Amino acid sequence: MRGAVMHAPGDVRIEEREDPRILAPTDAIIRLPATCVCGSDLWSYRGIESIDGPSPMGHEYVGVVEEAGSEVRNIQPGQFVIGSFFASDNTCEICQAGYQSSCIHREPIGRNGAQAEYLRVPLADGTLVATPEIPPDDLIPSLLAASDVLGTGWFGAVVAEAGPGKTVAVVGDGAVGLLAVLAAKQLGAERIIAMSRHEPRQKLAIDFGATDIVTERGDDGVARVKELTGGLGAHSVVEAVGTQESMMQAIRSTRPGGHVGYVGVAHGVELPGEELFFSHVNLHGGPAPVRRFLPELIELIWNRKIDPGKVFDLSLPLEQAAEGYKAMDERSAIKVLLWV
Ligand SMILES: [Zn+2]
Repeated sequence: MRGAVMHAPGDVRIEEREDPRILAPTDAIIRLPATCVCGSDLWSYRGIESIDGPSPMGHEYVGVVEEAGSEVRNIQPGQFVIGSFFASDNTCEICQAGYQSSCIHREPIGRNGAQAEYLRVPLADGTLVATPEIPPDDLIPSLLAASDVLGTGWFGAVVAEAGPGKTVAVVGDGAVGLLAVLAAKQLGAERIIAMSRHEPRQKLAIDFGATDIVTERGDDGVARVKELTGGLGAHSVVEAVGTQESMMQAIRSTRPGGHVGYVGVAHGVELPGEELFFSHVNLHGGPAPVRRFLPELIELIWNRKIDPGKVFDLSLPLEQAAEGYKAMDERSAIKVLLWV
């Protein structure tokens, strides 16, 4: 099969890869109609995270089940399914509490490389959620978004306690930040402040439900959020970048007693204990347990209540994955969909 392999920072190639096979009786093999490039793929593309030799890429996926292992009960060949970037059993105590991305049996999907024609999904019964039928092609981008960026933005908004009567601020205008805006809107937030300096992203944020745009960053951005909230700060802040600056911007934009949902993968972030102590801010985040939200998100997409697929502003054939990475690295694309 054909699949994306990263050889070094900035060097992604589509190559012939070995077809995945069932390795454990709980595995399933799916055939992907489309896949995509994630903001988190850029950490290794930019050399900030090191890779250990040529690495298959991709962890976002939807597809049709081709084959299921002998112990798979809930998922059948022919079904269209969606899963998240960690496979999970969905039965252990941690999963049952809604933290499937910390499942005691979790396995990262990224290792198997979802930017490819086929993918092996471990723990298929716990990991995969089937759609009611095979979706029409125009729903595929939105369903693919549910696999990671929508689920991650949603988790950020949920743990930031976005809801009726709340002012929500979102730090980060990548796909996750923009979909956190959509999530906050769906969760009933009264006011949603999107922090973005890029016009196409501001437009999409407004489309998804943002009521205010703040273009300033760092402490200037914090001052602007305070100005918009009577000097208090937002009730709920979603952090969707993962840098020291964005994390401090999120914490300082939150009012005492408020909540920060941090879903940007932290790179070199160090929190000042004394400032945190006196901030009275609640912090919760981490790798989103997307599996918790998938049934609800699939239903919203299936009934065309939300259209998260709009974050894909560039679609390319899988063969042009290298161009897709470049466009996201240069921020000329928000998120790139790869048709297989
Ligand atoms: Zn589990």
